[in-house]
Amino acid sequence: MGLQPMRPEQYISPAIILDYLHSRPRSARAREWLSGRRYLPTHPGDRLTPLVIIAHSFSDRRIAHQLSLALEQDWLETPSACREAYDEILFKAPGIIVVQLRQNNVCGCLGHRHPFVKEAPFAESHDAFGGAHVGEMDIAYQRVQTWQALPLSDTALDAKFREGSRLEEFHSKQFRLKLLSIVLHETNHLVSPQEPENAIRERSMAFYRDAMTSYVENALATLSLTIDRSFSRF
Ligand SMILES: [Zn+2]
Ligand SMILES: [Zn+2]
Repeated sequence: MGLQPMRPEQYISPAIILDYLHSRPRSARAREWLSGRRYLPTHPGDRLTPLVIIAHSFSDRRIAHQLSLALEQDWLETPSACREAYDEILFKAPGIIVVQLRQNNVCGCLGHRHPFVKEAPFAESHDAFGGAHVGEMDIAYQRVQTWQALPLSDTALDAKFREGSRLEEFHSKQFRLKLLSIVLHETNHLVSPQEPENAIRERSMAFYRDAMTSYVENALATLSLTIDRSFSRF
């Protein structure tokens, strides 16, 4: 009986996924390209979180970039208490999560977890995945855009930014945090399918609310700082 070598779990980077996608037969890649299917692998910065592959149509690439921005940047900018609420869930989550970006869902839902991986390149395990499990979900982004996550407080925050570039910035941040909270919500479902919807929803809404509040506080603080500075010149 030999000793098992201590091998650190392989870190799956976006580059490994891109390399795997390019290594597939030319004909399969050509068909995929012509059909407009694209994959954007993105990693939320710290190694404990899953690698997320955004499966999307070429025409939705801007939304795919916004989702990757949410995962890579907004996630790290949220207060650590917000992130800690998902520590255990992310620790147990599949190492790779495929997010199918859709315009809409016929049922009207914001998103679903998928019991099986349907996205062809990731449906079967591959050496490149380093033994990581693959999970899948979908997100209907047009539904997310019109979704009033927290109707009362969102309207109140809206008024604080009034108009112009600050309001635009606020709205795109809000959209990205909604996307992020849905990815977390569906990941929670993937990890604990038995947990009641209420509890899962409460957790993801608390994340959204606290992340938004912290963003607005910071944005307003820098805003008033700018105003003070411009006044001090007189
Ligand atoms: Zn549905
Ligand atoms: Zn749910």
